[in-house]
Amino acid sequence: MFDFLNFLELLNNQSIDKALESIKDLFHLAKIDVKLSNGEVIIEYALNNNSSKKPLVCYSNDEFTFEFYNVDSFDDYSKEQINDINVLLRLLSIHQKTSMLTKKVEDAMLINMTSHLPNTHGYMKNLKELSGRIDPKEYNAYFINIKGFGLVNRLFGSEQGDKAICAYAHMINDFLSKDEAMAHLGGDNFCAFIKRKRHDEFVNLVTMCPVKIEAEGKIHKVNLIGVVGYVEINDNDLSYPNIMSNSSIACQYARATKKIVVKLTPELLEMVNSAKRIESIFNEELEKGNFVVYYQPKFDIKSGKIIGVEALSRWINNGNVIPPGVFVPILEKNGEIVNLDLYVLETLCKDIAKYRSLGHNIVPASCNLSRSDFSIPDIEDKVINIIKKYDVKTKDIVIEVTETTNLEENKRLAKFINTMNQNGIMTAIDDFGTGYSSLSVLRDFKVSEIKIDRSFINREILTDSDEIIIGSIIDMAKRLNINVICEGVETKSQAEFLTKLGCLNAQGFLYSKPIPKQDFEEMLQSVGTIYDK
Ligand code: C2E
Ligand code: MG
Ligand code: MG
Repeated sequence: MFDFLNFLELLNNQSIDKALESIKDLFHLAKIDVKLSNGEVIIEYALNNNSSKKPLVCYSNDEFTFEFYNVDSFDDYSKEQINDINVLLRLLSIHQKTSMLTKKVEDAMLINMTSHLPNTHGYMKNLKELSGRIDPKEYNAYFINIKGFGLVNRLFGSEQGDKAICAYAHMINDFLSKDEAMAHLGGDNFCAFIKRKRHDEFVNLVTMCPVKIEAEGKIHKVNLIGVVGYVEINDNDLSYPNIMSNSSIACQYARATKKIVVKLTPELLEMVNSAKRIESIFNEELEKGNFVVYYQPKFDIKSGKIIGVEALSRWINNGNVIPPGVFVPILEKNGEIVNLDLYVLETLCKDIAKYRSLGHNIVPASCNLSRSDFSIPDIEDKVINIIKKYDVKTKDIVIEVTETTNLEENKRLAKFINTMNQNGIMTAIDDFGTGYSSLSVLRDFKVSEIKIDRSFINREILTDSDEIIIGSIIDMAKRLNINVICEGVETKSQAEFLTKLGCLNAQGFLYSKPIPKQDFEEMLQSVGTIYDK
């Protein structure tokens, strides 16, 4: 008697060879073999060692019905035996089909469904396979996020956005040599494991990738800029934390501080980790005076003279000057940012009052309010009270705010701007042009100034039509008597480009970085202001 139960057990345990062996014995076959071809399970047998393999059963459509070939070969078998072979082969086929599907599911778990390239699991699996063959110490691990990608989706739709992401992902994949690996983690996030000697070549590729996007019957050329965080591998540890976490910390830091490429050093890691403690120590640090105000002047492009200044906070921690990109988002989340913003405003007012009393020429100075500050019902009173407390002339202060997509938040913002206007305090829209800005902003917010975001002149993902739109916004703003300034001007040609578009004021590293108070005072004296007599 054939032992069916044992046969099932063998299939269950994936002992396919033994299961085939038991069929072979039962029917005195010389050979039996099972294979998969185009989703079909094909079982072949040979009656004796001399006969060539002939297909006995070609099997397995969805209903699991048999198709027999060489039926004549069954002449030697009884009806019961043929019935038995039917059942066994049916079981074998079902099992093989299930295994095939399981494998498909397992494979799908290793790839990203948009680009069909390895995802995190696939990446870790590929690294494991690589680890025996290579020396990890010759490699860097990268984490890449595409800058401002949300804007591509908003401008062209998510379907076109996905196509652009796929083009970018495949560009990284095509760059790989056989001993390297990459992953498309999802959305606009990628990682890669690349030989250190190819670092420059790789970074050049991912930080400027031109793709073509089709929308409304037009082809738009868009440069996708990857923000890169990376770490040099110094040991043989290719585990998740060593490969992914550290490079992702470096990438987050690059994004927060608006840099393009950041290498994770032990010092940076320590700084980021200590910044994470900001939540618990913020008030204490503020009281201790460990938050300081840096000043970045604003310039008149033509005369090179100073027309204004912006107060930007820095956290001095263990001798490190920590930029706001690291701590502002954390304070925004827990709502503490308002205390920092009012502290910066107060510091600014004290400084202005001091300069006035010394008879110096001064320029309008701005400070930033976060969106979350507007959830405070009497934020207007708090701002006005500080300005009054130091008897600062309202024309000396500008409050920089950012617009949002949220209708309710924008209504609140409009109320704030109106109250400032009623009290003679100037306001500016910061980071203008980063997505939502339109002519309606100029209608809804009666601000004194718009600050065009630096991504505009860095030509990140703006198209020819955006240039026309921003150009007309500058035009319209000027006609409405709204001052226009561009942030992040780093080169002379950018300044010339702006002048061409009608924007005559600039702030950026071409003129000055944010600098400590003392340095700003000296600059004010040496460079002079447009208000000098
Ligand atoms: P923001 O208000 O748009 O300030 C401009 C940022 O761009 C500053 O970064 C400045 O250092 C940087 N920047 C200026 N010119 C250039 C340039 O030519 N090239 C490049 N690459 N960067 C340039 P910072 O000081 O790191 O501040 C970043 C952001 O943090 C600020 O952007 C502002 O949104 C926020 N922030 C800073 N201080 C405060 C604060 O006290 N309160 C609040 N709520 N936010 C603040
Ligand atoms: Mg600002
Ligand atoms: Mg800005």
